[in-house]
Amino acid sequence: MTADLIIRSDHIYSCAQGPFDLFIDGFVAVAGDMIQTVAAGEIPVEICGPGTKIIDARGQTVVPGLVDPHTHLVHGGSREKELALKLQGASYLDILKAGGGILSTVNATRNASKDELKEKAWRSLDQMLLHGTTTVEAKSGYGLDLNSEVKCLQVVQDLNCEHPVDIVSTYMGAHAIPVEYKNDPQGYMDFMLDEVMPYICAHQLAEFMDAFCEEGVFSPEQSRILLAAGSNMGFKLKIHADEIIPLQGAELAAELQAKSADHLLAASDEGMQAMKEAGTTAVLLPGTSFYLMLGKYAQARKMIDIGIRVALASDFNPGTCPCENLQTIMTFACFGMHMTPAEILPAMTINAAHAIDRSEIIGSLEPGKQADIIILNAPNWDYVIYHYGINHVDKVIKNGRVVVDNTQLVYQGGNV
Ligand SMILES: [Zn+2]
Repeated sequence: MTADLIIRSDHIYSCAQGPFDLFIDGFVAVAGDMIQTVAAGEIPVEICGPGTKIIDARGQTVVPGLVDPHTHLVHGGSREKELALKLQGASYLDILKAGGGILSTVNATRNASKDELKEKAWRSLDQMLLHGTTTVEAKSGYGLDLNSEVKCLQVVQDLNCEHPVDIVSTYMGAHAIPVEYKNDPQGYMDFMLDEVMPYICAHQLAEFMDAFCEEGVFSPEQSRILLAAGSNMGFKLKIHADEIIPLQGAELAAELQAKSADHLLAASDEGMQAMKEAGTTAVLLPGTSFYLMLGKYAQARKMIDIGIRVALASDFNPGTCPCENLQTIMTFACFGMHMTPAEILPAMTINAAHAIDRSEIIGSLEPGKQADIIILNAPNWDYVIYHYGINHVDKVIKNGRVVVDNTQLVYQGGNV
């Protein structure tokens, strides 16, 4: 069968087996929206037809499309005003107690129309795509009441249909206690369990469910009740675990067979061991550690040495990591957590795909997988991490179609 698209390059990192799986002087052939062949050597004549488009990426680097497995994509407003407060020493939990922080985003999200939220998130998705991200996970959790949560999840559903980036949807009502339940957290728990979760489940608005297990937010006991109920309803699970205070969130993630536990700065040794045994992916968010000026990062080196599957994500959100660019996150992963370039690439492709239960269809360049491919203006992968602070993405191929070309969006409906 002839290919529709063939990319020729001297540095193709398939991420199929082992961290790199590098093809020096080879090609990736795409038929329709799928990868047909990845191989070293010359392009066989029989796969070249009259309609075959050939991209010569010699001198450039070819890797799978990046996967961002943890974002809070849909939200109203922005929180740049908190930056000066933070610099004066206010902590995340201080700002939250003063009624700011996440609750100000909840107000802005509740007050925004569906169209406004969609337009704002669309712009963020464009930025992600321009920087090489081809699949993202997106959480609700800035609406908290039924209508606003449904509004945000519908925005995700619409964007998934209309924007080239694929989106995996997560319900995260357990992100904060809304003001109307300030003195009645149990009432908010019951509201989620009895009204919101069954509605979202019945209308298939989310595949995953997540909870912010943290002091002053949801206790491990509350998180266990919510997530176990979610699992029974058919949601796959994620947990914001051990971000600030050690609360045995990693242990809880393993116990509940969560697909991922995220943040993990304060994860215990026992928790890490339990995650390894349960096969729970660690999603690390070094951009958040940087932005919160915590002076510490999750122990990526230790987790990798233990044998935990480590993924990286942006945590894109208005309060603690207003950054869509995974290449910036790579910088923090390398210089903050001491991950090597050979560890960072799988953490942003195949391991990230595991964290959203998509490892069978994306995350590596293998025959039969979705043709999500990026071409970088760099001679090899190490160079991408080394030369930090710029966007290396030249082209993005999503589902076999070129959607970013010569660093510009070229998909229909984009800023062509
Ligand atoms: Zn988060």
